[in-house]
Amino acid sequence: MADRPIQSLGWKTPLQSARKRNMDILAQRGVSGIMDVLSPGVPPGSDTAHLAIFGYDPYNVYRGRGAFEALGVGVSLQKGDIAFRCNLATVDATGQIIDRRAGRIDSVNARTLAKALRNAKRTRHNDVEVIVEPATEHRIAIILRGDGLSSQIGDTDPHEAGMPVQKVKPLIKTSEAAKTADIVNDLSTVFRDILEKHPINQERKGRGDLPANAILFRGASELPKIEPLPRKYGVRIAAISGTALIKGVCRSLGIEIIEVKGATGTLETDVEAKAEATIEALHDHEVVYTHVKGTDNASHDGDVSQKVRMIERIDQMIGNIASKVDQDTVMSITTDHTTPVETKEHTGDPVPVTISGQGVRRDGVKNFDEISCAKGGLNKIRGIDLFPILMNSIGRTKKFGA
Ligand SMILES: [Zn+2]
Repeated sequence: MADRPIQSLGWKTPLQSARKRNMDILAQRGVSGIMDVLSPGVPPGSDTAHLAIFGYDPYNVYRGRGAFEALGVGVSLQKGDIAFRCNLATVDATGQIIDRRAGRIDSVNARTLAKALRNAKRTRHNDVEVIVEPATEHRIAIILRGDGLSSQIGDTDPHEAGMPVQKVKPLIKTSEAAKTADIVNDLSTVFRDILEKHPINQERKGRGDLPANAILFRGASELPKIEPLPRKYGVRIAAISGTALIKGVCRSLGIEIIEVKGATGTLETDVEAKAEATIEALHDHEVVYTHVKGTDNASHDGDVSQKVRMIERIDQMIGNIASKVDQDTVMSITTDHTTPVETKEHTGDPVPVTISGQGVRRDGVKNFDEISCAKGGLNKIRGIDLFPILMNSIGRTKKFGA
């Protein structure tokens, strides 16, 4: 949601130009500031950003993205599992990548293709179980389960089209890393064969669509070892999100996921349904986290008007929630990173944050945006500070000292 001033908006940010009365009311009734989600100038990923916002130091606990994707699509990860976030991609006969997302293949066909990979006949290391779980569109989680594996291996994904699919190399000289790399290279070939012959891909080629004929492996990771959030603060906490990665981060922290029909993680997500689910969840949870992804999608697409419209939809959602919660509920709005529509990528700019509710100091800030919040009473905080501040506002922090 956070951005930079844009010329076509008269040098305002999308937040400054959107109609977002409800966010502004919360800012007026609370305390605001700006936040370096990870560290000044460091562009956060959504996963590390969320770890920080929930009060964990990502530089300590982060073990890669794959494990979160796997948790997000409902795989219950075990100790020693190695999880990858994979793409269905299109390669030509020589193995050069034509499209890293197989023409953004639809979720239904992608699901069928992913399931076809489950019965792959492998040539080596048959003691290791391979779990394949489709996510959305071209995204698939793949998990290796067995003894003597390591996450210290590279990617088969060269991260750009026009390059060949890479052979995975171990990043350290251990037998575990060598074994894991060997399995991934084997799977890469075997999967290629299954996908190439699959009827869905024959049909796609017939129609002139890009076939999803290869799997790109990346982000090998293990489950981070963390103290669950509910135990840390003695709160029941739930999260609502349509994005697998975010659901995965939350699950890894012991946060209960509430599945909401119509929450898609896209610009079409059902914000009304999210608002209702949030209010419902507050009946039996002390903390509810509600995530909306759409503004980030619009930013990555460089679409200013979509971004402004999505901010206005989020504002309706916030208004809906604010009108129905109890008087003593503390509400906080923030963004997990800045994604300027002009850079189309995450940047290290600080994000606005506001905390509003009974007992929270009021600082005179009238609008929720990057510029107004910078004048607020919270001043500049780090992402890792936010959750303790929120817990303090509801009386869930312990005194340090006598
Ligand atoms: Zn993003």
